[in-house]
Amino acid sequence: MTVRYVSTRGQAPELGFADVLLAGLASDGGLYVPSHWPTLPPLSTVSYADLAAAVMGPFVDGEIDEVAFGPMCHEAYSTFRHPAIVPVVEIGPDEWVMELFHGPTLAFKDVALQLVGRLFDHLLTARGERVMIVGATSGDTGSAAIDGVRRCDNVDIVILYPQGRVSDVQRRQMTTVDAPNVHTVAIEGTFDDCQDLVKAMFNDVAFRGEMNLSAVNSINWARVMAQVVYYVAAWKALEDRPLSFSVPTGNFGNVLAGWIAREMGVPTHSLIVASNTNDILTRFFESRAMVTDDVVPTLSPSMDIQVSSNFERLLFEMNDRDAGATAEQMAWFRTSGRMSVEADQYANWIEPVFRAARSDDADTLATMAAVYGESGMLIDPHTAVGVSAARRRREAGVPVVTMATAHPAKFPDAVEKATGVRPALPEHLSDLLERPERTTSLPNDLGRVQAFVRSVARR
Ligand SMILES: *Cc1c(COP(=O)(O)O)cnc(C)c1O
Repeated sequence: MTVRYVSTRGQAPELGFADVLLAGLASDGGLYVPSHWPTLPPLSTVSYADLAAAVMGPFVDGEIDEVAFGPMCHEAYSTFRHPAIVPVVEIGPDEWVMELFHGPTLAFKDVALQLVGRLFDHLLTARGERVMIVGATSGDTGSAAIDGVRRCDNVDIVILYPQGRVSDVQRRQMTTVDAPNVHTVAIEGTFDDCQDLVKAMFNDVAFRGEMNLSAVNSINWARVMAQVVYYVAAWKALEDRPLSFSVPTGNFGNVLAGWIAREMGVPTHSLIVASNTNDILTRFFESRAMVTDDVVPTLSPSMDIQVSSNFERLLFEMNDRDAGATAEQMAWFRTSGRMSVEADQYANWIEPVFRAARSDDADTLATMAAVYGESGMLIDPHTAVGVSAARRRREAGVPVVTMATAHPAKFPDAVEKATGVRPALPEHLSDLLERPERTTSLPNDLGRVQAFVRSVARR
């Protein structure tokens, strides 16, 4: 049965995969989810790219030609610099990490965005269309999005970042990409200013239409879909044993993919939701209430979020797919900054699967030091939040796999502080700090930014 997609808020048209990919957010403000969860197809021992094509097959069936999809997966994962693509490494008794950071920009977002860029280009070519992707970044997302589309003929991309507020490595991963469709802008302002500029561009209907604006943010269904694959790969790598996962979490996209893999048939004991001090999810799992709070900066900046936007997809399931109820809860959450679920919803959906834990910066540093002392392995601060949660919440006798979401060299200061060792960039990036940068500085001014976007659009 071909998978169609419905909005979690029920007021947007049902769409096929291609339209869902290009739309991102549903027109009613909701998130698209498949009309049903397919079961895993029979899986043979194959390469990661073949596994990816098989696991995602049901989600793109009827919309992307099988003959094109397989090669697209192969191309996307040929950019990874490890023969296993996402190797599983043992760090203790029945304790593993899955290294998701061997892609071009050294963070797990490459797993989704290398494929999403190729999907965009394929569909836009077929339709004879072009898009202009605009986005704001505080670090990892911008570089992964840029790398995902740098070879796309039908996609231009402009990424805004706050001047002087992203790390050298993160900035250079964006500004040293030499491609005619890639543009970065240093905004004289904060990350919030950058986000507001992006929102304002989308809200300017005339500009949005003129540029055919698009986004590849973490609520895009295709990103979640691509992440389901590595949960299946972890299960296969550990010889089909039931297992638990610990997932460093921000927007809830990664751990949601684990939940979907479980729905599709991966035998999963628990999904451990690991947060840093920005612990809205941990507090939800403790109290059944989701309450926003101010964001505080931590050593794991990619998890410094106020609201976990992908949680809405799980909420929709908890409401037995009642879109009206979900829309009401989200509206209430938006105005009041809080919402809660009933005890029976919690007992049915959360208790059997989810565990949660938080780590402050001291615990993050201690975990990096402990893992280095035990195994000689350097882990990044996000991964450390995951390992710490795994060690506190795992069940005896069940293998636990922590998702390693970033390469340690992406956060060298924190790693050095914890272990005394400064991790080196992998070879393909070793000259990053010498490469010429190309970027534009602009004031926090919508008119100036829109003029820039117009000037670089390849029409
Ligand atoms: C984006 C990111 C996360 C959080 O992932 P979500 O899907 O938003 O939960 C964790 N670690 C790193 C390194 C990231 O870049």
